[in-house]
Amino acid sequence: MAGKRKFELAWIGDKEETDFESIQISAEDLVACQGEIGDFKLICNKENQPEEINVANIIINLPYQEEPVLEKADSLFSDDYDINEDKPVIILQDYPELSAAVISQAGLEKALEIKDNYPDKEVYYLYQAMRFIEDNDRLYERARESEIIFLKFDLGQLKIIEEEIIHYNREDIDLKLNGNILAAPELKPAKETERIARIFNLADGYKEYLQLDNIYLQPTLSGKRGVYLLKGSRGPTALTYFEEELDFTLNEVSKNLAGVTEIDKYDREVDDQKCILCYTCYRVCPHGAIQRDDELNSMKVMDLACQGCNLCLSRCPTNAIQIEDDYLKIEGENEQDPILIICENSAEIAAEKYNSMVGKDPLESYQKIEVPCVSTVERGQIFEILSKYSSDIMILGCVSEACKHLTGHDRCQQVVERIKEDLEKLEIEQDRVHYERLSPRMAADLGAFLADWKEALKQ
Ligand code: SF4
Ligand code: SF4
Repeated sequence: MAGKRKFELAWIGDKEETDFESIQISAEDLVACQGEIGDFKLICNKENQPEEINVANIIINLPYQEEPVLEKADSLFSDDYDINEDKPVIILQDYPELSAAVISQAGLEKALEIKDNYPDKEVYYLYQAMRFIEDNDRLYERARESEIIFLKFDLGQLKIIEEEIIHYNREDIDLKLNGNILAAPELKPAKETERIARIFNLADGYKEYLQLDNIYLQPTLSGKRGVYLLKGSRGPTALTYFEEELDFTLNEVSKNLAGVTEIDKYDREVDDQKCILCYTCYRVCPHGAIQRDDELNSMKVMDLACQGCNLCLSRCPTNAIQIEDDYLKIEGENEQDPILIICENSAEIAAEKYNSMVGKDPLESYQKIEVPCVSTVERGQIFEILSKYSSDIMILGCVSEACKHLTGHDRCQQVVERIKEDLEKLEIEQDRVHYERLSPRMAADLGAFLADWKEALKQ
């Protein structure tokens, strides 16, 4: 193993200008990542020599793959394109799908460049939606003044014939355009994305990019603390907002370097005598906070990386993961009151908002169990509650975009469906267990459907 090194920041893929002490590592060279925020160990394979690099933060900044949408068209991004004396130029912006906003900008700039160089050339601009960022409105105005012909289309109004003739048919316009086509390429995730996701234990997101849209995850935060995603690692929209996202990310890195504290106050310990190394906890942890401890030959939870969802505890088949506190307590004075199991990241916040808006706690006449994520709700636990209490149960999880633990809401939904199947087999009312989804912003909705539920319970 070559000598150890310590950096404030590692760039996986493209390196950007920063003042941090940083290192660039190609995605192909990276083999493994251990450790947690502030103390990651990246194992690289350089010229067949393993090298361990210590870093505090990691930015994954992989380039997009550009896939041509038509074999015979030039790329809108290329400076090397054909201009045929006798034919018009056709800029094709959104084929076959809507492009990112930054592509409107590239298309308008290209159309103006052609018109500046060839003032007599007919330039057609075909698009599904014009996106306005930065100075696009000014570019659009100039393009119209330059007599560039804009043709808007919806799917079905545009056909490509033999890769070079465009048949445009919309309302009373029926055109067959034969010219030099400059098309926006389709942007795809970088080649190494899947392997990088495995190395960092990150969830796949939209269309195999690494990011899932989540209102809690600021755009470039991955599920793993201290690991950030930019550009082609994140999704097509990341290209449009690259400068803002880069600034945000570097600011986060700077804050981390000033000091990181634990997010969750409870530590989770793995009992190495009970751990059978099944890796369930490793797979289910949405925050890449579990790692193998080679010395103890069991798994371990990394406290700075852990975000306290307790999913590992609820899924460990041998109950090897312990938490200091009994976190599932029913709070409430009246055992007859309906029972709410609420996510502290959505319903709990919505209830606080409702209280400050209306001056009344919407949860006051319920028995309440607060959970860090509804995905920790287990069938056994629900049946235990149903056997002890006569009250019905409402589980309040998150809408997809609001789930701090990425897919916790989906996992809970599956558990609830199985509980309902079991209830049906036992000939017990399925409606004794309800499941609703909320975001922390849905204070009014929370008040409304709790009122409806209570009304339904009375009947
Ligand atoms: S789920 Fe439990 S038994 Fe399996 S590896 Fe994790 S701690 Fe060990
Ligand atoms: S509590 Fe959640 S975030 Fe922490 S280690 Fe377990 S699964 Fe991961």
